Amino acid sequence: MAKIGFIGVGNMGGPMATNLIKDGHEVKAFDVVGQTLSRIVNAGAAQASSPADAASDVEAVVTMLPAGQHVSDVYTGTGEVLGNLAPGTLIIDSSTIDVATSREMHAAAADAGFDMLDAPVSGGVTGAEAGTLTIMCGGSAETFARAKPYLDVMGKNIFHAGGPGAGQAAKACNNMLLAINMIGLSEAFNLSDALGLERQTLFDIVSTASGGSWALSNYTPVPELVPTTPANNNFNPGFTGAMMLKDLKLSQDAAQSLDVSSPLGAAATMLFSLYCNEGHDADDFSGIIRMLRGKKVD
Ligand code: NAD
Repeated sequence: MAKIGFIGVGNMGGPMATNLIKDGHEVKAFDVVGQTLSRIVNAGAAQASSPADAASDVEAVVTMLPAGQHVSDVYTGTGEVLGNLAPGTLIIDSSTIDVATSREMHAAAADAGFDMLDAPVSGGVTGAEAGTLTIMCGGSAETFARAKPYLDVMGKNIFHAGGPGAGQAAKACNNMLLAINMIGLSEAFNLSDALGLERQTLFDIVSTASGGSWALSNYTPVPELVPTTPANNNFNPGFTGAMMLKDLKLSQDAAQSLDVSSPLGAAATMLFSLYCNEGHDADDFSGIIRMLRGKKVD
């Protein structure tokens, strides 16, 4: 069993670190929010006093931070992680960040003599808790092989997507598709309500018809149809509107810089921007159904 530093133990990082602890690893954790850090310490982690402290004297360090700025701060900025790693420490960044920053972190890690993998995840908090995340990885085949035993504890479907940043590229495409799916699902349920269909009936039919999707089966934006959806819990996250907007912007920045047409991705970005600006940035992203429903809120 290994000593693992874990930095960022929020909605996703908390349960991922917990699974490493349950598997017998010694986890040393850090988070800037004291209450969040206390939760993982209660689950059996050692408490680190800074990112550098969490990352020192461990075999692997995992980061699960909100965005690119936090990741570069932690590794190469005030967090001073890169300067405090023991020789041979493996770096796994599971945050969802932009490909450019991810590649900068890979380059900085390589310059300092460390193996790094970008390993963003999909599957939400329930997947993190159950250890069933899909994890998409970028880095060398050797680094992927080194990280795989740890990733197997946190996820179920682990992919080597390609070289540095490839995991982030796959994640941007996946989440753009999820946002578009969720808006489509919301429109379908709002229309079917207006047409007088029972929600359960629509759910049963679409689940076995051509409109079915992961979002429908696991994350239907209306209550009481699937056990795992935040709609059952007044759209408490889950995955916030702000996080989805961040991921959509990553997809659109990439699409624009590469001259790829992405009209539905652009429309989804505008709709989630509106959703967040209406005060729902901290609500689950699937709550966008209520904004689309407008005054006909149930
Ligand atoms: P979160 O906000 O719950 O967790 C992030 C944690 O990082 C917070 O606890 C925050 O206090 C901490 N943090 C911020 N700056 C820090 C620093 N400098 N040092 C230490 N800790 C710091 O977010 P989350 O939902 O856990 O998401 C984390 C990442 O995973 C994001 O990139 C997100 O896009 C991605 N993600 C989230 C989900 C989801 O369903 N929530 C699913 C897939 C991927």
